[in-house]
Amino acid sequence: MSTVAAYAATSATEPLSKTTITRRDVGANDVSIEIHFAGICHSDIHTVRGEWGQVKYPMVPGHEIAGLVTEVGSDVTKFKVGDRVGVGCFVDSCRECEYCLAGEEQYCNNPGMVGTYNGTGRDGQPTQGGYSAAIVVDENYVLNIPDSIPLDKAAPLLCAGITTYSPLRHWNTGPGTRVAVIGLGGLGHLAVKLAVALGADVTVLSQSLKKMEDGLRLGASEYYATSDRDTFKKLRGSFDLILNTVSANLNLEDYLGLLTLDGTLVELGMPEHPMEVPASALIFGRRRISGSLIGGIAETQEMLDFCAEHGVTPEIEVVAPDYINEAYERVLASDVRYRFVIDTEALR
Ligand code: NAP
Ligand code: ZN
Ligand code: ZN
Repeated sequence: MSTVAAYAATSATEPLSKTTITRRDVGANDVSIEIHFAGICHSDIHTVRGEWGQVKYPMVPGHEIAGLVTEVGSDVTKFKVGDRVGVGCFVDSCRECEYCLAGEEQYCNNPGMVGTYNGTGRDGQPTQGGYSAAIVVDENYVLNIPDSIPLDKAAPLLCAGITTYSPLRHWNTGPGTRVAVIGLGGLGHLAVKLAVALGADVTVLSQSLKKMEDGLRLGASEYYATSDRDTFKKLRGSFDLILNTVSANLNLEDYLGLLTLDGTLVELGMPEHPMEVPASALIFGRRRISGSLIGGIAETQEMLDFCAEHGVTPEIEVVAPDYINEAYERVLASDVRYRFVIDTEALR
């Protein structure tokens, strides 16, 4: 075991604070990773604050991890010391159920994927995430970061990137697809870039027009404020696919009305409380609501390679670990442009 510095939440209400945690010894199939950068995902905040259920405090969040391999186990074949690697939202799964075998490990049903934090590892210990100096992970759950993507910009791709890429691919986004993205935050801004790179025509639906210039610069062709009721009249029946990246409850009926016949609204945001959907909003227009959870390991690698090929990287604000609590407040105030990434140097 090794002891490493980290930032942990000790309760749902206290600020995160510096501490130390232990990492397991490097097993035959493990790689040890010196963490250089960790993105701050809104899911970290939902989890820390207990909005998604029980938390095993003290808990170190962080599932957008980028760093360098410092040690490999005797049976590791995919990585060597010095490799640039990433770890996303899960670090293990059963590897036997039909979903794991299909490369959709995030949907493992036996009993489920092992989260990078707030999960339970094979050793029975709570898993601890990327707001730390190092992590030990089985090589099958580690990604290769292409050389052209800097490590700080790679980090957010490991969650925000794959979470938006996977549904875009699943719903066959390409030239001619009319896509709307609700919420221009961490997920939303990558959804815009990825959908544009896939050839789609993209519209941003944001609370206000404050970030309009950015949205258009990222490649959206149109940008509307959802605070303006006229937006919903004007855009009625306009989109084949809507990605909802909002972390709070929305009136889904309004947004379902923006879909074409057979259009799909994919729920990516996971607010604490349930949302209401009138049956009529689905029945008229034969509309669908779907959900989507991150993506499997193979698809995550495909996404990283796609981003390298198409020059897609997130817009980030790199911060020191002692800024985490302030960053959380800014994320909650929709004041993030467009992902905070922690430089973990001060923890190493
Ligand atoms: P984020 O950076 O905070 O972005 C969320 C955006 O939603 C904000 O920037 C804001 O955009 C909009 N928004 C916030 N509050 C709103 C409100 N009350 N009404 C309307 N719009 C509001 O968060 P994120 O990291 O992108 O994560 C977004 C959500 O996705 C979270 O719930 C997170 O847990 C979830 N998530 C899900 C998965 C998955 O696998 N499905 C993976 C990662 C994250 P505007 O300012 O443009 O309106
Ligand atoms: Zn996340
Ligand atoms: Zn499984």
